Amino acid sequence: MPELPEAEVVAQQLRTNLIGATLADYWVGRMDIVREGGHTFPWYRGVILQQVQRFGKSVALGFVKEHECRYIVAELGMTGLLLFRSVPIKHSQHVHVRLAFAGGKEPELRYWNPRRFGRLSLLDQKGLDRYVARRFGCDPLSVLRHDFVQLLRERRGRLKPLLMHQQVIAGIGNIYANEILFRTGLHPNREVSRIREATLMKLYDNMQRVLREAVVDGGSSVRDFFAPDGSEGRYKRHHLAYGKEGQPCPNGCGRLIRRLQSERSSFFCPLCQSKKVSR
Ligand SMILES: [Zn+2]
Repeated sequence: MPELPEAEVVAQQLRTNLIGATLADYWVGRMDIVREGGHTFPWYRGVILQQVQRFGKSVALGFVKEHECRYIVAELGMTGLLLFRSVPIKHSQHVHVRLAFAGGKEPELRYWNPRRFGRLSLLDQKGLDRYVARRFGCDPLSVLRHDFVQLLRERRGRLKPLLMHQQVIAGIGNIYANEILFRTGLHPNREVSRIREATLMKLYDNMQRVLREAVVDGGSSVRDFFAPDGSEGRYKRHHLAYGKEGQPCPNGCGRLIRRLQSERSSFFCPLCQSKKVSR
């Protein structure tokens, strides 16, 4: 399930291979994949891809024609993949959109998603601004430490769901939330308003480090994540808690990583991340 690092890897590969290329043609298999703006597809034909941005777990391709900007936004958050033509695709019936490019390093980009409804949006600048404002909170890679700490201090509730709340902090899902909390020694269910400021700073530092290292490592391929060039993420080998139920805690405390079932599986060390420890 792609999270921020995987979406960032996708954005980076699209920038490297497609910026400056012209969208020569498009094919849409099913219009119900498009949530908004499907009727504007013809506008994009013959237009140059000028930029690729990432918002949370979504990637926005920005096209410019005669000073007008329009975007194709693809959600990667559940099961979506953007793949170049050279990559063999299992279950090719789930390829819903193909974008043919001329003048780039890759001739085609395909959007694959077994969940069909409304995963692409075609937006003008105002539409993109609204889309981003409505869905995405601060970006974990660009938010300043002071602002992040302030944001959490104003909140109540359990820590892990807050870290994964896309309208508060955009891009962290279950894998990275578990990894960040383990490294900070915080129980997933800690009440956020009772966490000390120094610990929130440490949480910020770990969030930055984990996400940046994961981007460098190509993300985590858990289940089915592939970058546009078909490569798998290598960050999984650095996971310390996620999926490690029953294994000894890497901190050598003598306990096993345990799994806590709430809405989403939480993997944590009951000693290092005890709820009773005051941090
Ligand atoms: Zn431990």
